[in-house]
Amino acid sequence: MNHITIIGSGFAGLTAIREIRKKLPSARITLVSPLPEFHYLPSLIWIPPGLRQPEDLRIDLSRFFRTHRVEHHPGRLLGVSETGRGLFTDKGELSTDQLLIASGDRFIKNLPGIEHTIALCEGIDAAVKIRDRLVNMQGGTIAFGFSGNPKEPAAMRGGPMFELLFGTDTLLRKQGRREHFNLVFFAPGTQPGKRLGEQAVRKILEEMKRRDIKTHLGHKITGFEADKVLTEGGAIESDLTLFMPGMTGPDWAVNSPFPLSEGGLIQADKHCQVPGFEGSVYIAGDAGSFPGPAWMPKQAHMADLQAKAAVANMVLYTQGKPPAATYTPELACIIDTLADGILVFRRPNRKFMWRSRIFHYAKRLFEWWYLRPYRS
Ligand SMILES: Cc1cc2nc3c(=O)[nH]c(=O)nc-3n(C[C@H](O)[C@H](O)[C@H](O)COP(=O)(O)OP(=O)(O)OC[C@H]3O[C@@H](n4cnc5c(N)ncnc54)[C@H](O)[C@@H]3O)c2cc1C
Repeated sequence: MNHITIIGSGFAGLTAIREIRKKLPSARITLVSPLPEFHYLPSLIWIPPGLRQPEDLRIDLSRFFRTHRVEHHPGRLLGVSETGRGLFTDKGELSTDQLLIASGDRFIKNLPGIEHTIALCEGIDAAVKIRDRLVNMQGGTIAFGFSGNPKEPAAMRGGPMFELLFGTDTLLRKQGRREHFNLVFFAPGTQPGKRLGEQAVRKILEEMKRRDIKTHLGHKITGFEADKVLTEGGAIESDLTLFMPGMTGPDWAVNSPFPLSEGGLIQADKHCQVPGFEGSVYIAGDAGSFPGPAWMPKQAHMADLQAKAAVANMVLYTQGKPPAATYTPELACIIDTLADGILVFRRPNRKFMWRSRIFHYAKRLFEWWYLRPYRS
């Protein structure tokens, strides 16, 4: 019986489980992750305004694992053997026939004073911290910003910061206390969110102006202090700094034989295999450096497409066939403002954006639809 081990119970890992059970019903599946839980990260933006509570986004996977016959190894991967088949975790060693890496990314936290900032993308606890700080602030300046990985421009995530910014503005207006706050957006580039397309950047910047949000763009960020953001273009006074650093690969990767990109992510080919380990080691989601256009996003949707391609190629390998499945680069997201939403869609030959109140509700509906198989 083929034994497949998956690292990570996020978007890519869980999609892979469902695909494996459809296509290789008799395979043995082991999943390594610290907790038998799925954290639905796209809705973290709704914890600060109170639209979601932490428990809404923390899905217990025990039942899903039972119905899909998954053996959960409650540990954290620390390293991988030279063959790619031996796994070292903080809860013991494992071996496998095929490996799927789906352990997500990690933030680059090397700017001095970064401890004075909160990064929403770090998860539920960070979102709760932001919620509590907002509740207790009577007024002042809130600075929102993001940066990238200078060695890998694709390893960044700006969309949620726009959502947090517009959502906070909407919330403060609803609460009737917006006039006590100064909102500032900062980024080292002059075209923040460039990956979404030029039209989207223009719309986003117009929206900031419309909402009286100040901008500080095009200046390299050099560090943070308790009440300041430091940039080469001067300091921004800030009572609360919400900052999303650039991303890099998982920490365990340096203890593995897998090739890394310049930006520290695990190399992947277009078939979602790790070069040098074809047929035995696959990768999907934010942990990988995949071939594709510069705008290819680090998104849940992309992670799902890559997980499907990886599993299809695993199946071909077990049938003695060469890999054939790949993924279409696709950017699909709704930038929520709490009041409405901006749908942004991009494919190699097509892109469009559309703004409507309906998209705020569509994003909520999508969450319910996406989580259904894991909740039931
Ligand atoms: C605030 C926010 C909003 C977002 N909004 C959207 C959106 O609207 N649309 C969209 O498409 N995407 C969105 N994203 C991006 C999306 O959430 C990620 O791209 C997606 O989670 C990547 O999936 P993944 O499976 O690669 O990693 P993850 O979902 O991060 O899962 C990684 C898993 O690996 C586990 N893990 C980590 N390290 C180890 C280890 N050493 N050993 C074992 N297990 C480990 C983790 O516990 C976790 O279970 C958003 C992200 C954030 C943070």
